Amino acid sequence: MARVYNFSAGPATIPEAVLERAQAEMLDWNGSGMSVMEMSHRGKEYMSIAAQAEADLRELMAIPDNYKVMFLQGGASSQFSAIPMNLLRGKTTADYINTGAWSKKAIAEAKRFCDVNIAATTEDTQFMTTPKQADLNLNSDAAYMHFTPNETIGGVEFPYLPETGDVPIVADMSSTILSRPIDVNKYGVIYAGAQKNIGPAGLTVVIARDDLVGNAMDGTPAMLDYKNHVDNDSMYNTPATYSWYLAGLVFDWLKSNGGISAMAQINERKAAALYAAIDGSDFYANPVEVASRSWMNVPFTLADSELDSVFLEEAKQNGLVTLKGHRSVGGMRASIYNAMPEEGVNSLISFMADFEKRHG
Ligand SMILES: *Cc1c(COP(=O)(O)O)cnc(C)c1O
Repeated sequence: MARVYNFSAGPATIPEAVLERAQAEMLDWNGSGMSVMEMSHRGKEYMSIAAQAEADLRELMAIPDNYKVMFLQGGASSQFSAIPMNLLRGKTTADYINTGAWSKKAIAEAKRFCDVNIAATTEDTQFMTTPKQADLNLNSDAAYMHFTPNETIGGVEFPYLPETGDVPIVADMSSTILSRPIDVNKYGVIYAGAQKNIGPAGLTVVIARDDLVGNAMDGTPAMLDYKNHVDNDSMYNTPATYSWYLAGLVFDWLKSNGGISAMAQINERKAAALYAAIDGSDFYANPVEVASRSWMNVPFTLADSELDSVFLEEAKQNGLVTLKGHRSVGGMRASIYNAMPEEGVNSLISFMADFEKRHG
């Protein structure tokens, strides 16, 4: 068996130790005589798995007690509509920052429910930057301010948390959650599809300040109303039981590896090494403003795009896969989430240098 280094943006690589543990527990979880997939979500075994995952996530992110944690389905994309439905609370307008493809989708969905004030957009830089605090045109009447801390497709990450006064901040952290410590207290709602930096697809984590739960607008479908999920411990309906379990194994793995601050150091090193390799060469380029470069998703282009397919093919022969850039951007993209080991990034860097020598 030969495992590759998988640079997919999502579903993304999962720590090998987690997969091995899942494999070991597959046929008989903890003496239950069955796999987690086969368990009733209301049985005491599964309830203990679910509760432990939540406790570990709370510990890892230091989530305060006045925040609810939900383990939902429907992807981050469902949250694009759940956010306005739960958070408008009688208001008619919300602020959105537009930094790229995922912001745009969130904005398009919000427009179905309210007036969207674009507090800032970086479209004039082809989304290669993040706006400065001083350039945010914030509305103090906004029900909330939504932004995308890390744009997975463009590889653009906010180097700071915007200040919004009393207006709750909502963050789509799908591709940056757990990559570095954050102060949860500063947010109203954090949400993330699991398939980037948490675990398998099918699970969406939502962390919501409790005063923002319980005021969904009239007509909100039961499955999008946070209160239903909070009141039922995310078991209003059958949850994505196996994905939730796997996420729990990832949380446990993170804890045994020193938690998020230890991860942040590794993530910073991985990103720094890859950007240094790109910047140190005339053959590779990354167009993103240096201060806004993502730690998690690193797009890069080759001097001659005719070589793209050769690059991808040779990389694959070297056990480095899923490096093709998003169809809207082209070139390459290396997603280097928590589960991508440093050796994987170093192996990519060596391959890039060697490729440049032969083709540059
Ligand atoms: C992947 C991604 C999404 C979409 O997630 P789904 O779970 O597929 O709905 C939304 N926002 C960001 C930032 C993403 O990276």
